[in-house]
Amino acid sequence: MTNKLLFIANWKMFGDLKSLKSIKSVTNLSNKNKYKNIKIIYCPPYTLLNNFVIKTRNSNIDVGAQNCHHEINTGPYTGSISSTMIKKLGAKYVIIGHSENRFDGETNNNINKKIHSAISSNLNVIFCIGENLFQKRNKITNNVLKKQIYSGLKKIKKIDKIIFAYEPVWSIGTGKVLTNKELIKQIIIIKKIIKNKFKNQKIKIIYGGSVNNQNIDILKQIKEINGFLIGGASQNSKKFIDIIKKTIN
Ligand code: PEP
Repeated sequence: MTNKLLFIANWKMFGDLKSLKSIKSVTNLSNKNKYKNIKIIYCPPYTLLNNFVIKTRNSNIDVGAQNCHHEINTGPYTGSISSTMIKKLGAKYVIIGHSENRFDGETNNNINKKIHSAISSNLNVIFCIGENLFQKRNKITNNVLKKQIYSGLKKIKKIDKIIFAYEPVWSIGTGKVLTNKELIKQIIIIKKIIKNKFKNQKIKIIYGGSVNNQNIDILKQIKEINGFLIGGASQNSKKFIDIIKKTIN
């Protein structure tokens, strides 16, 4: 897996063939020497995965899915896509454990099965963790994160194919972001939790939650993270490029 600074675009349930055209400016940017030390990863909806793989073929951009089924190959699971299918399509990453799916009933146990499946398919996993507002207010954030990490990674021995994405649920799509001081403190705690189980292994951790072309000037100062998971702002190529340029310049 790459060691570059990550800009992961989560398009959620947005995008069509028309919006696909708008990524041309991003593929152009990715090929410039100035941006050779960053890695852009697009995670479009399943319906556009193949198009994205083709469209980004001659660029430095990688593609990922937004979820996968826990069954590794094929099976009678209507409406689902397996990690092998994603891999065969040419995608290299998959988001697992996004709070929008946890909210829809995905459990730590489901997530654990999906992570096993993805790793067996040789996909890199963008593993989302984060507390909701109720948990934050009740000061149980660290216990929640610990449970998400340990249960989600049950029987996983190596984390070299895992990117931890810390996404406070109350921050997603709300415009609310922790101060850098608070965020650094939380990232250090998360790293400690991970280190406790995966001793001497390299930890890759990114931040997600309302990253935009305004707050990036502040967020980019955080050296404890390896990049960003960007939802809303990544669907607009102009804003997405702005975020990248502001981080690098
Ligand atoms: C996300 O959904 O992963 C996310 C970070 O969304 P947003 O940037 O819109 O808050």
